[in-house]
Amino acid sequence: MNILAFGPNGSGKGTQGAIVKEKYGLDHIESGAIFREHIKGGTELGMKAKAFIDSGDLVPDEITIPMVLETLSNSKEKGWLLDGFPRSLVQAEALDAALKEAGMDLDFMIEIELDREIAKQRIMGRRLCANDNNHPNHIAFDAIKPVEKEGELFCRVCGGELSARADDQDEEAINKRHNIYYDNKTGTMAAVNYFKNEAGAKVISVNGSKAIGDISEEIMSQLT
Ligand code: AMP
Repeated sequence: MNILAFGPNGSGKGTQGAIVKEKYGLDHIESGAIFREHIKGGTELGMKAKAFIDSGDLVPDEITIPMVLETLSNSKEKGWLLDGFPRSLVQAEALDAALKEAGMDLDFMIEIELDREIAKQRIMGRRLCANDNNHPNHIAFDAIKPVEKEGELFCRVCGGELSARADDQDEEAINKRHNIYYDNKTGTMAAVNYFKNEAGAKVISVNGSKAIGDISEEIMSQLT
């Protein structure tokens, strides 16, 4: 099963992606997380990408597209849930062409819809687990609230250390990322529409303002 996941930063896309990945045994491919791994490991790619990420800009296509397509081809057998890519019409066209060339089908497209202001408020409260990117933690949601020990917050799944992403605490960077997402001419909404118009994948659109459990139930019931 191959799935594309769309939703603005702060919509809960990563949280839902982790649930779907677990249930169907898919590879969860998150372009942003791949970049963060490279930055952590001090690779050349990570050093090139860091300034773009910190300021909320897109990492250039000549770096991003080959990186994601290569990861995808390694997951051909298992199936994948791709999150954070494509983020533009150009990336959507590149992905479509690569899938066709590799003979890979796109089975589902999940779109989490959320108002821009709500997404912005949510973004600042999420926390990243040092041990596993798929452990969702958010200070404002009871269902995924971190554990507090002696005034410090730890991952609710594994007790690992938590941090806030620098680009999640910078309002200008958040605005830039949302400008890119909601742009329906060349940005992510243009990529969403591109794949909606490409017959083939079943489209699952959900309202991201509902509770985490309700959203995942809705997604699961349609993933058939
Ligand atoms: P995310 O974790 O999805 O919020 O991504 C964090 C940052 O990584 C973004 O703000 C971009 O700087 C970069 N990034 C992630 N995915 C892409 C992509 N598909 N194209 C370009 N840059 C990306």
